[in-house]
Amino acid sequence: EGSMLNVDDDHIVVGTAGHVDHGKSTLVGSLVTGTADDGQGQTRGFLDVQPHEVERGLSADLSYAVYGFTDTDTVHMDNPHRKSDRARVVEESDRLVSFVDTVGHEPWLRTTIRGLVGQRLDYGLLVVAADDGPTKTTREHLGILLAMELPTVVAITKVDMVDTDRVAEVERAVERLLRDVGRTPFLIERHGVAAAVDELSDSVVPILRTSAVTMTGLDELDSMFESLPKTTNHDRDDFRMYIDRTYSVTGVGAVASGTVGSGSVEAGDELQIGPMPDGSFRDVEVRSIEMHYHRVDRAEAGRIVGIALKGVDEEDIERGMALLPAENDPTAVRSFEAEIMVLNHPTRIRDGYEPVVHLQTASEAVIFHPDEGQLLPGDTGTATVEFKFRQYLVEEGQRFVFREGQSKGVGTVTDVTT
Ligand code: GDP
Repeated sequence: EGSMLNVDDDHIVVGTAGHVDHGKSTLVGSLVTGTADDGQGQTRGFLDVQPHEVERGLSADLSYAVYGFTDTDTVHMDNPHRKSDRARVVEESDRLVSFVDTVGHEPWLRTTIRGLVGQRLDYGLLVVAADDGPTKTTREHLGILLAMELPTVVAITKVDMVDTDRVAEVERAVERLLRDVGRTPFLIERHGVAAAVDELSDSVVPILRTSAVTMTGLDELDSMFESLPKTTNHDRDDFRMYIDRTYSVTGVGAVASGTVGSGSVEAGDELQIGPMPDGSFRDVEVRSIEMHYHRVDRAEAGRIVGIALKGVDEEDIERGMALLPAENDPTAVRSFEAEIMVLNHPTRIRDGYEPVVHLQTASEAVIFHPDEGQLLPGDTGTATVEFKFRQYLVEEGQRFVFREGQSKGVGTVTDVTT
């Protein structure tokens, strides 16, 4: 079930985020079921992530809630826990929208960043409760969605709980937050949903008033999700997969799992894997491929797969390494140049700052060397980023989050030749 998800163009994948209790699960539950919540959160549960599901096996499917559209209708789910119900939605719909919980559960934040910086999400949906307003977590999650370059919609939730003055106040606070990080807020309340669909991009962020109890804003979300195009594109065709997990299967040998980032892979392909600690890449052959616990001959971009490899032992490979075609000539790097935006740091960041960087599937200690000697909170600057302990395959344009307890900021790789 669900194995067709994540790939076809008639299927968009929305990553959800927001402060705990701000109404994310309830909103998604009301959207996918098409029913109002009773104010006690009876529609939530659609995004409840069990850690073992995230960690489970070769083919863990990270989508938890799905609904769809035909030319004339919306196809709703009845029960999140029934696989047959999900299969029905997939079968009956011409267009699917599935929701992936990206950063909801703080203890798993590291896991989810790792799983999702490389995941092919199309849009972000960030919730901000009208009673609490934006919090530090809201800011952190916004930073992560933007780091993933995701066009994002902000839903102000629970508008039934407060008066309209308070809603307007929270709206203004969200607008300020967006301007702080260089984005243009776009009020759907004022300009309408059709204009929002046209304007939505990674720099223009629509803000919508919603309530799962009164169903406020849900038609607008439906219209948006019904018409928004898929944003993930196939801008390169050569195979690339950053490894998320490795293990060893008796009789099969080393297995590397992850999401195919670009291109496709077939059983029998000659690949290379690395970098090894000394910076080299090792030749390997694809023994077999599994997807959703089924053997397949070929897997394409967007698929979550386990790839059994000939020519390498499990203890030689690890998370953060890449698999790529044997004929490529990759260079592992110890440092790279990046444009950095500091979202949240109590003081200026000086030369020698040591956060952890989440880049593709790697989480690694680094040292920052700002070009101007320092980076200021709320500001953008450039820096050389040096891996403390090892080398990685890094490419221009890749996005990363840097953390020190919490997410402190985001960056983009600008040059790997340093
Ligand atoms: P999450 O942690 O962000 O997924 O938040 P939940 O969806 O679990 O919601 C937290 C609480 O807020 C629950 O008790 C919900 O019933 C309540 N809630 C969520 N959305 C709304 C809403 O639109 N209106 C009202 N009145 N309560 C809501």
